[in-house]
Amino acid sequence: MGTVEEVLGVVDGGERLLDQDNVPNSNQSTACFSCEEPMVGLYCYACGNKNDDYRRSIFRLIVEMFTNITALDSRVWRTLWTLLRKPGQVARDYADGARTRWTSPVRLFLAASLLLFGYIGLTDTQMIAFGNLQGDEPTVESLDDRYPVKFHWFVQRDKLVFPPEGAKVVLSGQQIGAAGAGWNAGHTASLQDSIADVEDALEEVPNAGARAELTERLKSLRQELADSQADMNNGSVLDTEANSSTIKFGNSDENAIELDEDGTNQLVQRVLRNPQVVNNQLNTKLKWMMFLMLPLTMLLGAIFIRGRDKAMLYDHLVHAGYIHAFSFLLLLTFILLAQFTPMPGLLWIYIGILLVYLPMSAKGMFSRSNIKSIMTAYGVGMVYSFIMLFAAIMIIATALREEAAAIEANQAMIEAPATPAPITIADGEDVEPTP
Ligand SMILES: [Zn+2]
Repeated sequence: MGTVEEVLGVVDGGERLLDQDNVPNSNQSTACFSCEEPMVGLYCYACGNKNDDYRRSIFRLIVEMFTNITALDSRVWRTLWTLLRKPGQVARDYADGARTRWTSPVRLFLAASLLLFGYIGLTDTQMIAFGNLQGDEPTVESLDDRYPVKFHWFVQRDKLVFPPEGAKVVLSGQQIGAAGAGWNAGHTASLQDSIADVEDALEEVPNAGARAELTERLKSLRQELADSQADMNNGSVLDTEANSSTIKFGNSDENAIELDEDGTNQLVQRVLRNPQVVNNQLNTKLKWMMFLMLPLTMLLGAIFIRGRDKAMLYDHLVHAGYIHAFSFLLLLTFILLAQFTPMPGLLWIYIGILLVYLPMSAKGMFSRSNIKSIMTAYGVGMVYSFIMLFAAIMIIATALREEAAAIEANQAMIEAPATPAPITIADGEDVEPTP
């Protein structure tokens, strides 16, 4: 141990102190530039002023600034790695005051959002999309066959193909038989398919109990088919219960758009043939929803776990920031996997990871019992999912309403008087329209 001056590094005119950092010594001083206190490190202990007057060439300053930004400091990597390995640890530490050790939750959340939504925007990725993949187009003999449209996650828009003009479309994998002839035609067709399946099964099953069950099932299917066919003959579409064959968009009578049977069919076909009208709205609006859900997650968390000691709203905000950042970065990873590998079921793997990770993070952050941590994570997750689902339904309804408005306008045009009014041309002379 030497003298105080030696320990502080200010002997020899402070050269040792000035050598401790990357700032050129000619830009530094042994006394603070702001408050003139003696310097003992790169920053003034009294006022925080950095020991650097920055007086060097602009070129050199730009190079330094660029290296500072791109050389993602070790702190980011440490934060990400610990988020992955010890769920909840970073949030706990940060909320307990270790703020220089970890990247701040707000900064990490903003960076993760920028990466995720930036990638989605630049590559025109659709998180949810109706359509078919290129090279995977269904083959139909004629446009009178039902043309199946599938449902995809995480695809780039230009990888999607849509049904040809005039195709009768149906959502595959679901018995929403919204084919050209309307709801009932699709429903009837799917019932007929099911009846054929049960009849086949009945021939192969030797067991008497199973046969009785299948016979019962066949009976109820046939009854349903008869009802459906009766409905078709009555001419009702979409709504098989009531006789009303119109659907209405909007709740106030003034702005409501009402479509009759024909219009409803047009709407269903129009949207199924060009699902982009729904896809686009879903994908632009859900992004904002995801971004804006953070404060809500904080409040929801506080409903489940409270306490002045380690679970104040502030703790929940810190935790919400980190788990959002983690979820967004993981989502980006899975979007990349979906687009560049043939791995199936990625969405479910993503959800599975979160179902394990989130309770662990709640446990690491709030140190409550396992049961309480699981209930908190799943409770918040469920409310979150319900809100997103509700938003998705509202967004789809809005998109449909816009399409309905276009159809209504079209119908109004067709119903307009057949004899057009005389056309007035520039010199004011009326000219009869030529037929
Ligand atoms: Zn100072």
